[in-house]
Amino acid sequence: MKVYLTFDYELFFGVNSGTAAQCIVEPTDRLLAIAEKHGIFLNFFVDSGYLLALDKYAKRYPSVAYEKKIVFNQLKQLKDAGHDMQLHIHPHWEDSFYTGNGWKMNTDRYRLDQFSDEYIQQIITSYHSIITELTGKAPMAFRAGGWCMPPWNKVSDTFKKLGVWVDSTVYEKGFLNEGNIQFDFSKAPQADQWLFERDPLQEDPIGYFLELPISSVRLSPLFFWNLYVRGRLNRSLHSSMGDGVPMAQPGVRNKVLTSYSQQALSCDGYYASLLKPEFQKRLKRQDDTMVVIGHPKAQSKFSLQMLDEFISSVKDSCTFVRYSDLQQG
Ligand SMILES: [Zn+2]
Repeated sequence: MKVYLTFDYELFFGVNSGTAAQCIVEPTDRLLAIAEKHGIFLNFFVDSGYLLALDKYAKRYPSVAYEKKIVFNQLKQLKDAGHDMQLHIHPHWEDSFYTGNGWKMNTDRYRLDQFSDEYIQQIITSYHSIITELTGKAPMAFRAGGWCMPPWNKVSDTFKKLGVWVDSTVYEKGFLNEGNIQFDFSKAPQADQWLFERDPLQEDPIGYFLELPISSVRLSPLFFWNLYVRGRLNRSLHSSMGDGVPMAQPGVRNKVLTSYSQQALSCDGYYASLLKPEFQKRLKRQDDTMVVIGHPKAQSKFSLQMLDEFISSVKDSCTFVRYSDLQQG
């Protein structure tokens, strides 16, 4: 089995974005140390709108110039160590800005389809090119910000032009409708990969694009009670390293505490306890791939320990791979 460990490399998007040092650089250093220890590669979906914002405001604010320095240096380090850096688009950076005292996130336009067709094309092209410039390697895989998959006809031509042919956004039965965060993967094929052309949720055997969905898990309310209670009882073990606040999603917490829910298989926080059992399930089923999502900002002592143990225990029965390995076949 091939395992993709993927991390969305980004700040928080709520009322407080948190600092680059604690949300991104420090936790990523910890992840890199684990990867190095085991001799494996990781995949980072880099929030490239953020990189453009760093570039823009570094000219005006010394604090941003410093932030840019530590983030860009880390990206060079990731590149030198051979990890993948792929395209992650959060278009609300177009409307967000630096106040002199931190990032002011404006998420009124959180999804790509809230922008005009030409604007979408411009966003994709400029976000793609800053990663290419920094890493010397053009991204070939995409993950939509907040799982908000754009209507594919609005992005398809631009992706083809840029050579982006893999999407890794979908997770089986995923669904959310909370303010501007809207996605519905209930019609996604029940498979661990498929080709598509017009719609990532519809298989097309001669499609240009490959969907490598994030693995999906069905979780009971008990799992979330455990998550919240343990988090309260042992803060130093379970609190996330990131120092920001997520976008408000008022309905989600009550829903997961009272009924079964379908979630993306994650290595963040308490979710990392799912890695081993979910791997075993997939190995037994003879799946070809498992895709795990994570965020540096949401790592905790607990999750890093679980990830380390997970890799130790499975590395003889799987390969940890990068999206770019698909091109070197
Ligand atoms: Zn994201």
